[in-house]
Amino acid sequence: MPLRTIDSLGELAGKRVIVRCDLNVPLGDGQITDDGRIRASLPTLNSLINAGARVVVISHLGRPDGSPDAKYSLAPVAQRLSELLGKGVTFASDTVGSVARDAVNELGDGDIALLENLRFNAGETAKDAGERRAFAGELAAFGDALVSDGFGVVHRKQASVFELAEILPSAAGQLIATELEVLDRLTESPTKPYAVVLGGSKVSDKLGVIEHLLPRVDSLLIGGGMLFTFLAAKGHRVGASLLEVDQLDVVRGYLDRASELGVEIVLPTDVVVASKFGADAEHQVRPADDIEGSPWGESGLGLDIGPETAAKFAEVIRASDTVFWNGPMGVFEIPAFAAGTKAIAEALTEVTGLSVVGGGDSAAAVRALGFTDDQFGHISTGGGASLEFLEGKSLPGLEVLGWSAS
Ligand code: ADP
Ligand code: MG
Repeated sequence: MPLRTIDSLGELAGKRVIVRCDLNVPLGDGQITDDGRIRASLPTLNSLINAGARVVVISHLGRPDGSPDAKYSLAPVAQRLSELLGKGVTFASDTVGSVARDAVNELGDGDIALLENLRFNAGETAKDAGERRAFAGELAAFGDALVSDGFGVVHRKQASVFELAEILPSAAGQLIATELEVLDRLTESPTKPYAVVLGGSKVSDKLGVIEHLLPRVDSLLIGGGMLFTFLAAKGHRVGASLLEVDQLDVVRGYLDRASELGVEIVLPTDVVVASKFGADAEHQVRPADDIEGSPWGESGLGLDIGPETAAKFAEVIRASDTVFWNGPMGVFEIPAFAAGTKAIAEALTEVTGLSVVGGGDSAAAVRALGFTDDQFGHISTGGGASLEFLEGKSLPGLEVLGWSAS
């Protein structure tokens, strides 16, 4: 079943429309270090402003413990949002109560306000449905309708995502619609050849994605911390690299399944092995079957794919018509171990079909490495949400908007 769209809410001029965005941006020293999620919210916000709605934006930021905490204030986000919209944004220093009510009441048609961090209120993420519903009820007093557009939180049953959408007339915004359209293409109708590149830290985080996508892809490329569990499953020794011993049998199962399905699992042939974890580590490129042959023996650890592997992965990616990439190829946060991730990002920019980057750290990695969003077909704003979608899981924040998994 499709999502309810904004059209289903009828005439919006003069109406108070609450928009649940995901403005959970990374902050460093109180400065926004990546405003991708704010930018991604603009199409919906602009269309509501242009329609003459009185726009009340709500969002969470970080993980405060259910009470106010200045370091998670949305104030810097209000300022950035105002710059990007090119118009004033009223910031209410409280999420509910009289401060928020006054800010909402003062809005004229086409005006916009941002309320303080939802998670300063324990009701937002409460386990108890009654507590969530009570908080959602307080929020609902500020709106005649809800547009849900925080794709990054649709896998969470939280007050502003789920209960609020039950209380008010609700619909999905443009960001959620776009995200779903792209993710649908990755699962239902990918143009072939279809390659999925997986990395990141742990294979156990990505088991569901591998299971759901394996029957749909032509090649599965494995990098990042999880590659060592794959190498170990093939009988190689991996030194002190990240290894999940309890997943070895699962991974062997994937290797068998892939050969039955005719799916090529492409594993690294070389890796960058380091003396320790750190920016000042010594390192050298080793064949994937001789990681412990480095000067550091059993204590050497693999922190990136090697250049031969990067070239091979890039070749497969460029030859594909649909590519989904989740998870950095190495510890990209340290420049010495960022080359693999950079090479893969570069190859994705050359895909003429659909290229999609999913995952919070992967999105941060491509931006930190100097790529821009428009070089990719799509960068998903939802790490966990996009993975859960690709696992075929139920997503409460979408189901409450009329959607159901096919
Ligand atoms: P995403 O958020 O994109 O889904 P993950 O959270 O799964 O990605 O993984 C990101 C992390 O994986 C990064 O912080 C990166 O440093 C780490 N990582 C990548 N390769 C390795 C490796 N070989 N050893 C340890 N950590 C790694
Ligand atoms: Mg992550």
